[in-house]
Amino acid sequence: MLADKDRIFANLSGEGAASLKAARARGDWKNAAKIVKKGGDWITQTVKLSGLRGRGGAGFPAGLKWSFMPKKEGDAPHYLVVNADESEPGTCKDRDIMRREPHKLLEGCLYAARACGAHCCYIYIRGEFIAEREILQKAIDEAYAAKLLGRNAASSGWDLEVHIHHGAGAYICGEETALLESLEGKKGMPRLKPPFPALMGLYGAPTTVNNVETIAVVPEILRRGGAWFGGLGRQNNTGTKIFCISGHVEKPCVVEEEMGIPLRDLIETYAGGVRGGWENLLAVIPGGSSVPLIPKRICDTVRMDFDSLKDADSALGTGAVIVMDRSVDIIAAIAGIAHFYRHESCGQCTPCREGAGWMWRILTRMTQGNAESAEIDALLDVSRRIEGHTICGLGDAAAWPVQGLIRHFRPLMEERIREFSARAGDRDRPRAAAE
Ligand code: SF4
Repeated sequence: MLADKDRIFANLSGEGAASLKAARARGDWKNAAKIVKKGGDWITQTVKLSGLRGRGGAGFPAGLKWSFMPKKEGDAPHYLVVNADESEPGTCKDRDIMRREPHKLLEGCLYAARACGAHCCYIYIRGEFIAEREILQKAIDEAYAAKLLGRNAASSGWDLEVHIHHGAGAYICGEETALLESLEGKKGMPRLKPPFPALMGLYGAPTTVNNVETIAVVPEILRRGGAWFGGLGRQNNTGTKIFCISGHVEKPCVVEEEMGIPLRDLIETYAGGVRGGWENLLAVIPGGSSVPLIPKRICDTVRMDFDSLKDADSALGTGAVIVMDRSVDIIAAIAGIAHFYRHESCGQCTPCREGAGWMWRILTRMTQGNAESAEIDALLDVSRRIEGHTICGLGDAAAWPVQGLIRHFRPLMEERIREFSARAGDRDRPRAAAE
């Protein structure tokens, strides 16, 4: 369990104020000039030493990502872009950072910008986050007034301008290249990679895109040292993580804990346990709606970190824990998720555009049992033809929940089909009604 002394976010519950004065009292912006003056290489190396992996879902090492930026500015400026387009169902951690600890994010922007050689930072915020944008803008105004941003930010000798860009509410704009397209004023459609943003990003210039939580933990890493952060959690899965626990728990919450905490401890310590007790648990989606669910027998022992969940054929994703008790119709739940990804597909790639809708239609019939048993394999086949065959990760995000359902609940799906068949009779079954 995370000791209070190691907690990075002291105001995640919102008991204190979000103002600069309150943030400074909590230690934010302390020694900012000294840190920046140590230089971009030192910042990058310290973050590498900490083992910090991106907190937006992919888990790519942050320091390594920064090191892909060209060492010197060429004809084009360098950009830092903060991905605040938090839209993964079940996820509400970046939202709490922005409304309760906005100065952690802004201070982190200064250090990340120094590491990436950027003098301009855009924070791309989700369209629905209106109150959060207002709070963040207030924090930016305060930071400019206190000369912590702008020319010679925090007396560090580094210039940094920070701008907020408000999205229009499309989930796909959380994908980094779609975000850049949107920021340029175009439709938010993902780009083919390579080239990667570090070489050709915003306006064709070198760009680093990082998640809000990733940037917001950087100041404490730089103040306390990479070894401190790297000593929390376990190898390759270091530091603290903000988890959002929702669904059938007694007290849904957003909490910071040590990476690698057992899932059961996380739910029972902070969220008051599963509604009706642990034995009433059916399954958990451990990292936001795009990752495969895990049934109770895995939830009993699994740890909440990148590698443990990968070993369990799931993923840490955004750390959004969606708890489902035995009252849930798991087939209908996954059909609902399939509908979401069908709706959010940008339509550029055939496997995602056609396959996401196809999976949703089959699953909708399967919710009633109105299908052939052989269609379970057909559904799995469709999901595998989407996975890894698309421009961006939304295809995988559509496929994985379906694969998780089949992996762990195939007997239930078969039983539902048998029951429907017995009710309707084979001869006059209204097959494929939803198609
Ligand atoms: Fe668009 Fe889906 Fe292709 Fe991503 S995978 S680019 S969302 S069609």
